[in-house]
Amino acid sequence: MSTSDLHVIVIGAGITGLITCQGLKKAGIKYSLFERDVSLNYRSNEWTMAIHWALPLLKEILPEEVYANIPSIACNPVLGIHSGLYPIINGDTGDLITGVPYQDGLRVPRSKMREMCAEGLDVQYGKTLTDISFNESGNGVVATFSDGTLVSGSMIIGTDGPRSRVRETAMGSAEKAAVTKFPIFHTNMTVSYNDAEKALEVRKKYPTSYLALSQKSLHAFQSISSMPDGPDHPESWVFHMAMAWLGDSNNTMSYPERLALIKGKAADLGEPARSAFLWMPEETKVHKADISYWISQPWDNRDGKMTLVGDAAHPMPPYRGQGLNHCICDVSHLLKGIVGVRDGNTTMVEAINTYEAEMIPRGKEEVSCSVENGMMLHDWNKIQESPVFKRGFKPMDGHSNVKPETVGAEA
Ligand SMILES: Cc1cc2nc3c(=O)[nH]c(=O)nc-3n(C[C@H](O)[C@H](O)[C@H](O)COP(=O)(O)OP(=O)(O)OC[C@H]3O[C@@H](n4cnc5c(N)ncnc54)[C@H](O)[C@@H]3O)c2cc1C
Repeated sequence: MSTSDLHVIVIGAGITGLITCQGLKKAGIKYSLFERDVSLNYRSNEWTMAIHWALPLLKEILPEEVYANIPSIACNPVLGIHSGLYPIINGDTGDLITGVPYQDGLRVPRSKMREMCAEGLDVQYGKTLTDISFNESGNGVVATFSDGTLVSGSMIIGTDGPRSRVRETAMGSAEKAAVTKFPIFHTNMTVSYNDAEKALEVRKKYPTSYLALSQKSLHAFQSISSMPDGPDHPESWVFHMAMAWLGDSNNTMSYPERLALIKGKAADLGEPARSAFLWMPEETKVHKADISYWISQPWDNRDGKMTLVGDAAHPMPPYRGQGLNHCICDVSHLLKGIVGVRDGNTTMVEAINTYEAEMIPRGKEEVSCSVENGMMLHDWNKIQESPVFKRGFKPMDGHSNVKPETVGAEA
């Protein structure tokens, strides 16, 4: 294949797909990015995410003018990129348990991060991948979409998230690609108090975010998400709140019923979590998050014509804040390989094999660790032994003594 013919099909315009295409575009490599939703941030799946150890990699991947916007999308733009101690508090008393150190990190809302990463890209919306086939000549791949269109390219990258369709083809069956549900009922809320005093009060002690752990196998989380009218207008501030507890995730309650349930649990919490949750306006929509995982394992990459990146390769529970950091790390490794193909220094099969040889064990280790961490943070007797207490936010390194297949049920 001539390198000028290189055409990469990317499925899914989450953050992983967007930054992959930013990197391809920067390298002058042709890409086609397809997203099943009809627009960016179409659905209400908003939350905030901490980027820490992968931030330098993100800087390398993105064009300079795109990365320059990152401080302005920070949840707490007053701090921007900063170092500090992430507070983990006793949810029942409000006392600080520990501060987890982080260096040069920042927390961003998913919607703004996606907007920033989509800058200057051509995203083809309303395109749901339904099938993948490989040219008989061995020279490429054809993606089929639910509207009947076919698109051919040199290779296909699955950045289609936890329930990846590309993973099904890569693994050879939907069963082998199926996620396991993490046994938790996890709720996410976007909250505006529309009240300056309340907004100031809930941020007084922990200005960006905190994680409150309760003896009742429950956690509560709050973060500032954005300040639409700036730091001097607390009445406009928007918060990301989450509450989760171990148990059945198949909760079919209405938004008001979930809100009442959460407020009932919040009544027993210490401050600031107690007020932060009890003050949530009645119109607050309590969304259920899909917390599931798949332990990364080798797949058939069809001689380098198909691979997985981001949550498609390693969906994991989010309670150690690692998912997006690994997505960025994946993209960084993958782009180096594809640029090597562009420059004629390697073949696609070599580049993809090298990428997967690094990424699959890393993903496997982190998914296993995040499952273990998620269980331990909801078991009061074990929280101090959990990976986030022991290892902080650093990526794992040789962690292998977990048996995550013993928890959860097939989704
Ligand atoms: C509550 C919560 C908190 C988190 N906090 C952190 C944190 O603090 N730090 C951290 O590092 N990570 C965190 N994460 C994890 C992080 O959000 C994810 O790892 C990351 O957003 C995954 O991005 P992605 O692009 O790989 O997948 P996704 O965001 O799932 O994007 C996949 C895209 O593919 C599209 N798609 C799916 N199927 C198809 C198809 N067949 N055809 C076309 N398009 C398709 C989807 O519509 C979607 O837009 C958190 C996650 C949650 C849920």
